[in-house]
Amino acid sequence: MSEFIIEDVGLKVGLEIHQQLATNKKLFCNCPPIESDEYTDKFQRNLRAVKSELGEYDPAALFEKSKSKTIIYYANPQSSCLVEKDEEPPHNLDRDAKEIALIISSSLKSNIFSEIYPMRKTVIDGSNTAGFQRTMLISQGGFIEVDGEKIGVQSICLEEDAAKLLGDKGSIREYSLDRLGVPLVEIALDPVEGKPSKIKKIALSLGKLLRSTKKVTRGIGSIRQDVNVSVKNGGAVVEVKGVQQLDQLEKIVEFEAKRQYGLVKIAEKLQNSNFDGVSKNDIFEITTDWKDCQSKIIQKALKDNYVIKVIKIQNFAGMFGFSPYEGIRLGKEIGQIVKFYGIGGVFHSDELPNYGIEEKDIVIVKNLLKISETDAFLIIAAPSSKINFAMDSIINRINQAAKGVPAETRLATPNGETIFLRPRPGASRMYPETDIPPIIVTKNELEIAESNIPKLWDESIAEIQKKYNLNQQLAEQIFDSQYIDLFEKIVKKISINPTFIASILCSSITKLERSGLNSKLLKNEEITKSFEFLESGKITKESIDMIFEDIMKGESRTIEEAIKNTSIETVDEAKLEKIIEKIINENEEIILNQRERAISPLMGIAMKELRGNAPGEMVNNLLLKSIKKILENTQ
Ligand SMILES: [Zn+2]
Repeated sequence: MSEFIIEDVGLKVGLEIHQQLATNKKLFCNCPPIESDEYTDKFQRNLRAVKSELGEYDPAALFEKSKSKTIIYYANPQSSCLVEKDEEPPHNLDRDAKEIALIISSSLKSNIFSEIYPMRKTVIDGSNTAGFQRTMLISQGGFIEVDGEKIGVQSICLEEDAAKLLGDKGSIREYSLDRLGVPLVEIALDPVEGKPSKIKKIALSLGKLLRSTKKVTRGIGSIRQDVNVSVKNGGAVVEVKGVQQLDQLEKIVEFEAKRQYGLVKIAEKLQNSNFDGVSKNDIFEITTDWKDCQSKIIQKALKDNYVIKVIKIQNFAGMFGFSPYEGIRLGKEIGQIVKFYGIGGVFHSDELPNYGIEEKDIVIVKNLLKISETDAFLIIAAPSSKINFAMDSIINRINQAAKGVPAETRLATPNGETIFLRPRPGASRMYPETDIPPIIVTKNELEIAESNIPKLWDESIAEIQKKYNLNQQLAEQIFDSQYIDLFEKIVKKISINPTFIASILCSSITKLERSGLNSKLLKNEEITKSFEFLESGKITKESIDMIFEDIMKGESRTIEEAIKNTSIETVDEAKLEKIIEKIINENEEIILNQRERAISPLMGIAMKELRGNAPGEMVNNLLLKSIKKILENTQ
């Protein structure tokens, strides 16, 4: 095993970012994009694989076509209509989505087409009720500047998000429709060379540019990254899907580079060996020969009427277990491929005897197939309907091993690795959408987009910091929050320290959100009103959290209701003085003992009694005054 040095492998990564847009409705209907777990509607479709241009020589693609799946869709009428069900043609393109897409394209200096053609992209997994996704090429070219380097943009598309996968149960797959049709922008960048940390930085910069527009959705799942990874001499580009977090992105690129370069090393070793390929003629069935095999896996397979087959690979001994880098082995790769066919795994000669398969079982195979010391073999047990597809895939994969990296689509795992998902689809999966006429981009629309290009992130932060005298962290927090516009409006209207306003908007609301409360219940007018009440002395700084909590819990809708609900009432000065006097009288001993330091325990007592109904500063001043008076009198 050798040490993996990422700088040596000629790593190239092309980023593809999918960002949901913050619109009030979906791309081609009037449904609002609300995600919820409540579904009152349920309907079912049988998925017949469409005649597609997936490379049909590929057994995996053929197998996928042979599978019939039942798809159950769950819908909520609040967030889906007949369009999502594919029972009504699409409505007009959402104007906001178009406008945002044009702003994003302009921001990236990408060349916008004057006519946009909606296309249908074949989808074979059931994630779209119609069997296709609508997509439009908005622009091509352009760049984003990261650390002084221009990273090229290949294309920017506006498209519909897919339905949300709820899960698989045998041959039944379940989706929910709330996310289907939500507008998203897909940005594909040119492949760049460099380390995974650089890729992360590019993704981060692009994310910031998108968020700077203030017109994109926030939160987990609203931005997804796919990466196209290749290494030198690998011979293919591998698409990795499903990267949701930036920290994961860095790890995944590193793992994928290591895996691919490991496959290059395996190929080099095979090219220098006597291995000369493998074919269908090398497959033998051993179901009856192994009827006495004591392995529990084999016994269970026999009981289920599975077929057991073995393939002999000449001059391949040691290659399944050969591990150029830790965790990278051909045996593991093939194990992942057969899982695609619903087969648990494979047994290969480099790991046997094991799993209850004994030397005598191996001898049977060796004698039957005339396997010599330099040969390898591989065994699978599977239903007869699946075994040939799987065997064909294994043959392809073994022959590919001598050439390098196979072109495939892989899935990012949460622990930072990638696993086989499916063979890479061919290029021509698109055909024109006949239900929607071409969409014209007018000169006026282009000008509007140009005039809405956001300032650079760092510039905006510096500006906010200076204008409102905030520290950098708070400036970045408020700028990156959904409340930046509201913040600026409140500061303009009300003379309260902007730092206080920003921290309430950033930290108090986020804190309540994290404890499971719903910030959507807290409307902007109510937030503004609460600061107005604070300015006029109707409420105290200390009671804002309580008021917001009450509203975000759904117990009241307005500030006035919340004040009543939480029995917040501002104590007038006369009443306050009385309460303070009482506290002072009851605690004279503390004052005499602790003198000026008595302020801190007394403050605690007072604030508890007042429950946030009086400004802390005022209480503090009154207490100090009284303490001093007592101390003077006792001298
Ligand atoms: Zn709809």
